[in-house]
Amino acid sequence: AKSHHRGTAILFTAQHETDLRSQSLIEQTLRHADLEAEFELVYQPIMDVTSTKVVAFEALARWDSPHLGRVSPMDFIPVAERSGLIQELTRSLFAKALSALEGWPEDVALSFNLSTCDIAAPAAMAQMAGLITSSGVRPERILFEVTETALMRDCADARQSLMSLKALNIAIAIDDFGNGYSSLSYVHKLPLDKLKIDRSFIADVATDQACRDIVRSIVDLCRNLRIACIVEGVETQEQMLVLRSLGCLFMQGYLFSRPMPLAEVAAFLKACDQS
Ligand code: C2E
Ligand code: CA
Ligand code: CA
Ligand code: CA
Repeated sequence: AKSHHRGTAILFTAQHETDLRSQSLIEQTLRHADLEAEFELVYQPIMDVTSTKVVAFEALARWDSPHLGRVSPMDFIPVAERSGLIQELTRSLFAKALSALEGWPEDVALSFNLSTCDIAAPAAMAQMAGLITSSGVRPERILFEVTETALMRDCADARQSLMSLKALNIAIAIDDFGNGYSSLSYVHKLPLDKLKIDRSFIADVATDQACRDIVRSIVDLCRNLRIACIVEGVETQEQMLVLRSLGCLFMQGYLFSRPMPLAEVAAFLKACDQS
């Protein structure tokens, strides 16, 4: 038993070291990366399931590194945050997203992810606001997604950042709702327009009564607070029908489309009779 235990410990250490090595490799590579050239956005539609029209596209970052190949945002976003590169990356990506948005129909919005570090830095937020103002797109067409952890960590600063966005008529969504510490206590204190229910509740919604109850109560909460509710990670027709019966109107997931390159957005909109 003793040697087995030691074996496990060694295995754990080796895995841990591999993680640290790959994180520092990502960090080194990221420091020397050409942010403009190596990073792109793909776009995933958020659907109004009643009209089957696209209400928005969520922009999702992709990194194709000449040295590392494709790296997932789950791997490079945390590294970019820790190493102080996130603000520059966010600004560069947001400029690309804004110019994409300029080419879309007026009734289609852009949903863009902000990290904790972005909303914690008032100067960075002011720069983002400047990009919007000089682009000429209506700020009402922009939705920023922020996670619960981002909001919890620095509630006062985050609140101030969000208020300054609100002043410009930019909408704010809380992302990954329900995944993490319970948030009901501060949801009503923040100027939120939308709430995205975490994908983990959707995976079993068709088969698990407890998941259904949770989704139903979040939908009720949104109705009471008068904020729109979006469900993400909808993969099957069955999930979609159950979610509709629970009162969900806005959905996103592989059932409708995977995230797509900008070049495919026009054809997708055309197929939805929106061009
Ligand atoms: P997120 O904001 O929760 O984005 C949704 C993730 O779920 C995306 O993964 C998307 O591709 C994936 N997804 C969408 N529909 C389905 C589905 O039906 N089933 C399943 N299993 N997955 C689905 P992705 O693109 O790998 O992004 C992962 C995370 O990285 C995002 O989670 C977000 O937190 C972060 N991220 C991505 N782009 C950016 C960015 O530009 N800025 C910041 N700060 N974070 C980003
Ligand atoms: Ca998101
Ligand atoms: Ca999410
Ligand atoms: Ca997530």
